[in-house]
Amino acid sequence: MKHIISLGAGVQSSAMALMAAKGEITPMPDCAIFADTGWEPKHIYQWLDWLETQLPFPVLRVNNGNIRDNLVDSFGAKRFASIPFFTESPNGGGLMRRQCTREYKVMPITKKIRELMGLQPGQRAKGVIEITQWIGISLDEVVRMKPNRETWITNRWPLIEEKMTRLDCLNWMKRNGYPLPQKSSCIGCPYHNDAAWREMKMHRPDEWSDVVEIDKMIRSGVRGTKEKLYIHRSLKPLDEIDFRSLEDMGQQVLEFGDECEGMCGV
Ligand code: SF4
Repeated sequence: MKHIISLGAGVQSSAMALMAAKGEITPMPDCAIFADTGWEPKHIYQWLDWLETQLPFPVLRVNNGNIRDNLVDSFGAKRFASIPFFTESPNGGGLMRRQCTREYKVMPITKKIRELMGLQPGQRAKGVIEITQWIGISLDEVVRMKPNRETWITNRWPLIEEKMTRLDCLNWMKRNGYPLPQKSSCIGCPYHNDAAWREMKMHRPDEWSDVVEIDKMIRSGVRGTKEKLYIHRSLKPLDEIDFRSLEDMGQQVLEFGDECEGMCGV
């Protein structure tokens, strides 16, 4: 039985990997696998470089292409894995299907595990190998726990076993003298809340310009859609939204919203 960490390089999976490194979660994993969508913020790649130096097991990086480039290419003839953009149509608004998590996160990790186990493409894995995949979902996210689609992979949620919330993970990092990780997700992920957009606009101008450009680009729809698309749930262009926080405006902050799945690195 092999133990493999699905490493999103955000708060929870980073804390989980470091806890394993210190022997606070056992057994010692055989490796961690980071699936790179190619559109992660710069600080996540820097964090990953650092994290790798702290872990006694290897961190393998895999990808299934670049989600941003594939999106841009979809304006030509190419297929693209749907991102959950917000849609506007005469019949009301909606949300596009989410295929990106599976295509850019789940699939490349599963492919890498098969490769590590020496399976040939198409070779049956069930009954041949058994894997425990550690997923960094914390106690405040239990609704996101799902069994693995592959019957030969058993998902394990060590942070749930430890009864740890996201805040507990941050506190554990502090107690152990580590720097604090940030949330990891694609630069243009429609699941960002307003605080995340505001932070990007204020502190990461290159990434902000990039996402504003992509937001404009998808307005006329992408391949296979007729509706107008938006990255922000308000169905407004990103660069026209007032992201001053409600706190700045003297009101109480009420944040809500969907999140990218545990696989997507939160
Ligand atoms: S972070 Fe968002 S955009 Fe990126 S793969 Fe996950 S759901 Fe899709």
